[in-house]
Amino acid sequence: MAFLQSPKKDWYCILGAKPSESLTELKRKYQKLVLLYHPDKQSADVPAGEVEERVQRFIEIDQAWKILGNEETKKAYDLQRREDDLTQSWPVDVHVFLEDMSWNNDDQCYTFTCRCGGRYSISKNEAEDISLVCCDTCSLIIEILR
Ligand SMILES: [Zn+2]
Repeated sequence: MAFLQSPKKDWYCILGAKPSESLTELKRKYQKLVLLYHPDKQSADVPAGEVEERVQRFIEIDQAWKILGNEETKKAYDLQRREDDLTQSWPVDVHVFLEDMSWNNDDQCYTFTCRCGGRYSISKNEAEDISLVCCDTCSLIIEILR
């Protein structure tokens, strides 16, 4: 399966979910995100640069669900994840309170700088029920506390 060889992405993190969550829970998160990022659902005043980012995000979310929403591919991915765990951790780098993140008015999202120099960002809507955010540059993850 081609996706197993593709660059490492944490599909759970893309859905803002934990691996221990049930399929129903994953589906709920997927549906919420997909509505948020669906190209047909974007308002006209979103700046062009961001439209592209959102499309990119939509594709990732869709791909994550293709893998995690199917019992067989999910099992294969979980297995691969467990194997990777032996050699590489999928670390929660820090725990951050939402109010300690900076509010970015231009992008309408909360941001936090990763120690790699990359950025964690989460929109207000996402922050309502997503607790894990991946860095846009490296593979670190932060957990948001409320
Ligand atoms: Zn990083």
